[in-house]
Amino acid sequence: TKWIYSFGAGQSEGNAGMRNLLGGKGANLAEMANIGLPVPPGFTITTEVCTAFYDNGRKYPAELESQLEAAMAQIENVMGLRFGDAEAPLLVSVRSGARVSMPGMMDTVLNLGLNDTTVEGLVRSSGDARFAWDSYRRFIQMYGSVVLGVSHHRFEDLLEQTKRAVSKEDDTDLTADEWKEVVKAYKQIVEKETGSAFPETPKDQLWGAIGAVFGSWMNPRANTYRKLHDIPASWGTAVNVQSMVFGNMGNDCATGVCFTRDPSTGENIFYGEYLINAQGEDVVAGIRTPQPMAECRAAEGQISMEKALPGAYQELLKVRDLLERHYRDMQDIEFTVQANTLYLLQTRSGKRTAAAALRVAIDMAKEGLITQEEAITRVPPASLDQLLHPVLDPKAERVLLTRGLPASPGAATGVIAFSAEDVEDRAAKGEDVILVRIETSPEDVHGMHAARGVLTTRGGMTSHAAVVARGMGRVCVAGAGSIAVNYQAQTMTVDGHTLKAGDWLTLDGGSGAVYKGRVPTIPPTLSGDFATLMGWADDVRRLGVRANAETPEDAETARRFGAEGIGLCRTEHMFFGPDRIGHVRQMIMADNEAARAKAIDALLPFQRGDFSELFRIMAGLPVTIRLLDPPLHEFLPHGEAELQDVAKALGQDVESLRARRSALSEANPMLGHRGCRLGISYPEIYAMQVRAIAEAALDISASAGKAVIPEIMIPLVGTKAELDLVRKSCESVIAAVLSERKATLSYKIGTMIELPRAAITADQIAQSADFFSFGTNDLTQTTLGLSRDDAGSFLPEYVEKGLLPQDPFISIDREGVGALVRMGVEKGRAAKPDLKLGICGEHGGDPLSISFFEEVGLDYVSCSPFRVPVARLAAAQSAL
Ligand code: ADP
Ligand code: MG
Ligand code: MG
Repeated sequence: TKWIYSFGAGQSEGNAGMRNLLGGKGANLAEMANIGLPVPPGFTITTEVCTAFYDNGRKYPAELESQLEAAMAQIENVMGLRFGDAEAPLLVSVRSGARVSMPGMMDTVLNLGLNDTTVEGLVRSSGDARFAWDSYRRFIQMYGSVVLGVSHHRFEDLLEQTKRAVSKEDDTDLTADEWKEVVKAYKQIVEKETGSAFPETPKDQLWGAIGAVFGSWMNPRANTYRKLHDIPASWGTAVNVQSMVFGNMGNDCATGVCFTRDPSTGENIFYGEYLINAQGEDVVAGIRTPQPMAECRAAEGQISMEKALPGAYQELLKVRDLLERHYRDMQDIEFTVQANTLYLLQTRSGKRTAAAALRVAIDMAKEGLITQEEAITRVPPASLDQLLHPVLDPKAERVLLTRGLPASPGAATGVIAFSAEDVEDRAAKGEDVILVRIETSPEDVHGMHAARGVLTTRGGMTSHAAVVARGMGRVCVAGAGSIAVNYQAQTMTVDGHTLKAGDWLTLDGGSGAVYKGRVPTIPPTLSGDFATLMGWADDVRRLGVRANAETPEDAETARRFGAEGIGLCRTEHMFFGPDRIGHVRQMIMADNEAARAKAIDALLPFQRGDFSELFRIMAGLPVTIRLLDPPLHEFLPHGEAELQDVAKALGQDVESLRARRSALSEANPMLGHRGCRLGISYPEIYAMQVRAIAEAALDISASAGKAVIPEIMIPLVGTKAELDLVRKSCESVIAAVLSERKATLSYKIGTMIELPRAAITADQIAQSADFFSFGTNDLTQTTLGLSRDDAGSFLPEYVEKGLLPQDPFISIDREGVGALVRMGVEKGRAAKPDLKLGICGEHGGDPLSISFFEEVGLDYVSCSPFRVPVARLAAAQSAL
């Protein structure tokens, strides 16, 4: 078996397509070398070695050692140096690299191959003693902490002491002799902490580092991360061994990290940070302040790379262009400059905010780098949510407490909680919460998820809080260092203000500002890039997208977000207003026809007004109105006072009402007297609703000059006979209205398919229906026999144990519920080819479910107004 693939020197054995075998880093190093970029030569030990290692009780395959020796010899030849040589030693880095980038894996070890002999060789071959000893101390520190497990604080503390003793501030100010002393002390630390001397033999060092990478694949941190992100342990990690290039050899050297475009806005400008005379992690470690790449980005006192290292910078600009053209995506690049010569050490597709994803996709399509269709696929639908976030009302008054880093965009306002647990408790009670921490760790992730926003006092743009919050679309302000957090006292203090847990706080993740109290927010702008992408998506999607809405406000939002009608108006939501609920109660509690008729008559104008408003807002777009669905007890008078009010209005005695109230309560209301069963027992309720719909449709058709075509939807139908009965009474009400008004009206009468029996007998039901709308919430409950309101206590365990692939109320259960939907579609269309088919459950806004609905050929999905853009994009992606 071939266990090792070499790269560099203009040709590689691997390429970018071999990510599974070589890991992301290895595959892209090979690819960059193949396209002629300056990549220091090296090789990748494949992920298959990792798998074999664990399958065989942590033993390497037999041929690995000889292949490793050959691969090292090849690097030695290219570099003209020898590993462990006393005169001109080859040094290497050892780098982990899984298929997907994974925090929790082993950190990189640089300068491997140095010992007391080779360091002298490096002094002579480089002619720079400071550089050689600086490299040696870096190596001992990295190898000591990463491979040998010595706490890095031990090394850092010692370095701090040394710098203080010689009164120097920057690492770069220390002399060769001073580094020599540090090396000596570092070795003593290693010996004291591990009980053995620092390994001097380069070959042992190399195997030690390789072993540490493979070992780290199964460490607890990596295991947790894999579990959270559904990464199988069987993927394994690769190990990259690469000859060193040095950014710490003087002022014509540097190291840096850059993005081909701005990863927070997506703007097409070169973005990144670099440090002169530095190595590896110095840029992100915050030892010195990194400087900007481009001169136009340099503030006062900063020195851009464009100015300081113009030759290497121009090279890098060419690389930027080449890599974007080659990968056809925004890249995140790691580089080092040694003596004015540029080397590439990594490239990958750059992580970006939703706004940046949108802008990059659109710009690249306009630049001709990708097609419009590719641009559509480049934006994850769920991420659009971030763009729909509100922003702070610019006119609102505010008290600025401080500023941190703008780590994840959007505005969030909520009450303060200092622990993930407190966030969850408060969120469960319906509060908006801001999590405030000194810094966050993986244990806080569940709290970050439940929070509106996250504020930390420590850490940068790439800190845990920032990365995780961006990924989840939570607002985040990071590293607001002037805030003092006291977990014990549950307070935060800043600028003379002390805020307690439960106090209001507002974050602006776009600017990094932290405000006291509750600052009002306004809806986001939906023009520009957003509108462009939505337009492209609309051009290719086949599925229609409607919204679930009953209030004028939701209907307006839905239209702004591009809904093509209302797919579900739940009329029961219109019954709870304070001006109506009294009549509703009288309607239910009345013990005689006359009293009931009076209550229903009182409700008619309210309903007519509601529907008129919806028809007006939707201006000729289809509006599907579902007749009353929930069990009656939901509207019953609760306390004694309410009961008395109803008794008075009806002229009945309280005792008989009390008796009726308990008679109406059900053991299992979800499967009880609800849906069309109500309409069958109390036809006058549905008759009133249908009359209101017909009258409103005629009124708005006349006043707007555009025909309104209402769609009346009958819920919870299980048999054709039920639908026939209800349909007939609806039709006679409409006929009555039309003859009173001497008018005509086109309308549709259809049904929800939300019981298994309805799906199974869809061919019969279709004969009496103009349309079907799959009510996948109820269909999921009734198919799985799983109550949505009770499943919360055990469903998470089901998902965790793999008994269900995901929460079936979030993403449709394709094999079970999905099969019934498919059956309903096929049988329904077979009986009536022009039957209109939609879906109006929560699944209508879930991208995974939407691709299923595309597959089975529904006509439209309907979802909550804020999910409409998500659904439009997901529908487009599933059509491509
Ligand atoms: P990570 O996956 O954490 O980014 P890397 O393996 O990319 O870790 O290494 C981190 C940094 O170490 C690189 O960005 C680069 O600056 C430095 N580095 C790695 N290998 C070499 C090398 N062969 N020569 C010089 N610097 C290197
Ligand atoms: Mg890297
Ligand atoms: Mg239902």
